[in-house]
Amino acid sequence: MSDNCIFCKISRGEIPAKKVYEDDEFVAFQDINPAAPVHLLLITRRHIESMQDVSPDDAGWLGRMMALAPRLALENGCNPGAQGGFRLLANSGAEGGQEVPHLHFHIIGGSRPWKGRVAPNA
Ligand code: AMP
Ligand code: ZN
Repeated sequence: MSDNCIFCKISRGEIPAKKVYEDDEFVAFQDINPAAPVHLLLITRRHIESMQDVSPDDAGWLGRMMALAPRLALENGCNPGAQGGFRLLANSGAEGGQEVPHLHFHIIGGSRPWKGRVAPNA
């Protein structure tokens, strides 16, 4: 937990967010500035700054977090199958384009094709 972290505050319910999922370990909510028709953020409840802080010891919860992503994508409007799909993105650190220093996965999808670009605004 980190007192001044915006995503910790969302996790604790101290600032509003359009939550679509929560359990003991994870929270998912709508990105406030969506890059596509579906744009969710999946966060850890525990304050971990970024994927740079992850080691093999974290494989358990990290696996559960990644395994949650396809379910949340489908439940929130991403299209199924090879012609549908979604993008799972973890910006990590300043040079990785991370703005909020609390580990999160972007789940991005909907009807807009990506045409091979690596980031929504690349
Ligand atoms: P990143 O650049 O990977 O750190 O992405 C941070 C994301 O958090 C951006 O897509 C923002 O639009 C989003 N964001 C920032 N503040 C909020 C908030 N209060 N509620 C929902 N999404 C937010
Ligand atoms: Zn935090």
